[in-house]
Parts: sequence; C-alpha cells; structure tokens
Amino acid sequence: MQKRNKFMEDTITRPTLTTKRMREVDTKLDLSESFYSVQCEGASTGYPAYFIRLKGCNLMCGGTGGKFMKEGKATWWCDTEAVWKKGFGVPFFKLKQKWEQEGITDWVLNGRVHLIWTGGEPTIPKHQNSIPAFLDWLEKEEPRQLAIFNEIETNGTMYIYDDLFNKLQQINCSVKLANSGMPEARRINPEALERIMSHDNYWFKFVVSTEECLKEIERDFIKPFNIPFDKVLMMPGLDSQKNYHERTRFCLEMAKKYGYIGLSRLHVSAWDKLTGV
Ligand code: SF4
Repeated sequence: MQKRNKFMEDTITRPTLTTKRMREVDTKLDLSESFYSVQCEGASTGYPAYFIRLKGCNLMCGGTGGKFMKEGKATWWCDTEAVWKKGFGVPFFKLKQKWEQEGITDWVLNGRVHLIWTGGEPTIPKHQNSIPAFLDWLEKEEPRQLAIFNEIETNGTMYIYDDLFNKLQQINCSVKLANSGMPEARRINPEALERIMSHDNYWFKFVVSTEECLKEIERDFIKPFNIPFDKVLMMPGLDSQKNYHERTRFCLEMAKKYGYIGLSRLHVSAWDKLTGV
C-alpha cells in the first residue's frame, strides 16, 4: 500500500525492491567497535545491552568533518563519524570471546542482554549479509535453544531484506531531517520505511531540537506514512550534560503539546560525552 506520493517519483536512489538475494557466506563482521553497556535510548531504555557498531554509512549527516554545518547547510554533524569510518573484519569467534571475557555469554544467548546492531548504518548491504551469517554461526556453535534479542538502530533508508529482517526482535528507526544537510531523496525511502512498519516490533525515534523539527516530522513522516502515535518516541537533540536538563524539559514539553512519547538520552545523563561505556 502506498502511503506517500511526494517521493514516489524519485527512483534514483531507491534500492531494488526484492525480498530474496543470493548471500555469500560471511565469516567476519566489519566492526568499528563493540562494548557492553545499557540501552539508554528508545523503547528498551534500561536494558543491559551489548553494542556492535558496524563500519560504514550510506549517509553523511552534517557533511564529512562537519562540512555542511560549517557552510550553514546543516545544524548538526554525525557524532560517531570518526568511529564508524574506521574498523576491520573481525572473525565471528572473536566477538563471542569478548562476551566470554565480560562474563555475559549466557545472558546474550538467552536475551537478558540485548544485542544492539548499530553503526554507521547496519543495514547497508555488506552488513545485511554478515549479521544473519553471524547469528546462523552462533546457532551452530551453541547446541542449546537460543533466544537472542536483536535490536537494530537504522536511519530507515535501506530496505531490510528477509535474511536480516526475520532475525530482528526490534527495529529502532531514527530518520534524518532536513537539518542533517542530506537531500530529501537520500533521507526518505518510502519502501524502506513501510518495510520497517511491517515488523512486529518497530519504533520511530525522532530527535527534536526545535518545534519546527516536530512540524517537519509530522509533515514528512508521521502523517504521510500513518505512523501510529504510540510508535513515536521523541528524544532531545543533545550530546553533553551542559544542556541536558533544559533540552530534556523542552522535549517533554513538546511531548505534552503534540501527544507523543517523550524520552531523554540516559547515557548523557550518566556518562556525559564518554563513549564506549
Ligand atoms: S545516518 Fe547516523 S551514522 Fe550515518 S551519518 Fe547520519 S547520524 Fe551518522
């Protein structure tokens, strides 16, 4: 069902819409970093979580090195660019070894610790191959019944194919607004968004810095795609403790005014700008 017309004419940047592909057997994850922490954003806030940040992204919010921001074409710049641009192929067994060193293997395998697939963008094609391959490998390695809870953090611009889609327990979609400096045709992919909305457990996380952001979110996403109000999470745009309370208050006031779910960014409250914690 088509829910939006404005972007339907654009076919240039849209991926081919197929649900089956040939998949090479991967044995490595193209990894930037991984660490044990707590999910501090979105619907699973508070859950212990193991973050797996994969290398590469199909967007460059704010421009490389903040170029668009400096030129006045964006108001913010990707805060993980320096991390997701680096990375290398890590054999599957090395990741499991890290869980063993942390003493969390059983908790990961039974879903007590969520696996958070993030980036960069974890749905770019190479990761849509390697994530399912890793999960298949784990199943072969472990004779017991697994109940891994896989969450993915996506910008919602790449169609998620069956191999990956069917292995996800939760999709957290954080679409990018005009203030990212990315052209509309690269930021909004109707097929990719509708695919996400066909999942049993999906959420849209919107970063709200101004009331204008909220108006754009309603105009370009919530209304045209008929996103249910109880699937909309609003988070403040902030990255340090300096403005944590003021920005959180603003976000919660907007949640009251527009009737969506208002949250904050717990990791900033706990760890400020520290990453990998
Ligand atoms: S989509 Fe996310 S990871 Fe990619 S450039 Fe934008 S903010 Fe960074």
